[in-house]
Amino acid sequence: MSAALALDETHDPALASWVVSANAAHTDFPIQNLPFGRFRRGGTAEAWRIGVAIGEQILDLAGAAAASGWPGESATWLAPLAAGDLNAFMAMGPAARRGLRLALSRALREGSPQQAALQACLVAQARSEMAVPCRIGDYTDFYTGIHHATTVGRLFRPDNPLLPNYPWVPIGYHGRSSSIVVSGTPVRRPQGQLKGPDDAAPQLAPTQRLDHELELGAFIGSGNRQGEPIGIDEAEEHLFGLVLLNDWSARDVQAWEYQPLGPFLAKNFASTVSPWIVTMEALAPFRAPFERPAGDPQPLPYLDSAANRASGQLDLVVEAWLQTAAMRAQGQPAVRLSRANVREAAYWTLAQLVTHHTVNGCNLQCGDLLGSGTLSGPAPDQAGSLLELSMGGRQPLTLPNGETRSFLQDGDTLTLRAWAERAGARRIGLGECAGTVLPAGPLRPPPAP
Ligand code: MN
Repeated sequence: MSAALALDETHDPALASWVVSANAAHTDFPIQNLPFGRFRRGGTAEAWRIGVAIGEQILDLAGAAAASGWPGESATWLAPLAAGDLNAFMAMGPAARRGLRLALSRALREGSPQQAALQACLVAQARSEMAVPCRIGDYTDFYTGIHHATTVGRLFRPDNPLLPNYPWVPIGYHGRSSSIVVSGTPVRRPQGQLKGPDDAAPQLAPTQRLDHELELGAFIGSGNRQGEPIGIDEAEEHLFGLVLLNDWSARDVQAWEYQPLGPFLAKNFASTVSPWIVTMEALAPFRAPFERPAGDPQPLPYLDSAANRASGQLDLVVEAWLQTAAMRAQGQPAVRLSRANVREAAYWTLAQLVTHHTVNGCNLQCGDLLGSGTLSGPAPDQAGSLLELSMGGRQPLTLPNGETRSFLQDGDTLTLRAWAERAGARRIGLGECAGTVLPAGPLRPPPAP
């Protein structure tokens, strides 16, 4: 069993923190989570700092590192974090991550002798702004959502929905990291080449089919040397943790450009990540077996192992929520568009993605980001994109206030959430991944909240 799956005292559901908001039943950030992010006090030009989310607060690791009482090797692990360099800590690998997790868990527990010193290192999340959590290296987006692949394949190729390679090879493409932004950043409607089926020629125009894709993003911690593939049972040791990822997509641009080399400008104008990286250790209580439907081929041997079969999957609920500008103006809350479970949505595990990505000798590096692909459950209302929910735009959704949506309109705010909950474990969440659509053209301020 991978050490990332081992449960220890940091997972004890009975643990409580002296940070009172971390003990609220539905917080995403109880003491059992301890995700890493990059923040500064809102409205300042301070240098970005690395912090750990705890309840409604952030433990500022620059200040915390200077406090006394840290055991053993903690000073070594805290040094890059205190300097604002999350990548350097990520590259230290899983032993450092587990060691610091234990030290942080003990320091933030009720009764910790470090409470007095660390109390002064708390910053309220509500008074902070977040950056992308680390320097993001190369970005690869996979296509592990088999229900998404089947539904979208049917829309694009009615007679040939799921291509024959799908059950054998984890499909992916290389995206761009330059346009990845953190939750809360407005997303401008892109323009691109559009060509309707009856048009003689394409035209350049703002996309009329702007969509979201509900995905998970996995950050690589320690990489591999070029030419040295990562075996399936070592794969998880190279994963640092997960964020939510909205792979915004211009469906009309995509339909015209995607053959023969796959997505290009339909995808790389913006992708949004949630600000807190939830470590693989925090997710350890929420693992599930990897199973193939009866009749599907089993993975090739390099993508198969007893450990991957026993616990390669994640029991994690993912949701997409929409609030239109009119809903916001009328004081109406966001409406949920979809809810699915990763274990039902993903055809390949994270370990299989890492192993497949490196099987040719490709070197992954610290800070690389692997997207899961759109996570849609088996039922129609579990779909992680509007393309699926509206059946290619043919069946618009009706919202509670009477508005309809086939695709996103200017002023819409799309928010992704994820959380895990199980008997015998403390509920944890990934936080929020939100973005509001701005009109095409020169950047304008977002609509008033
Ligand atoms: Mn995608």
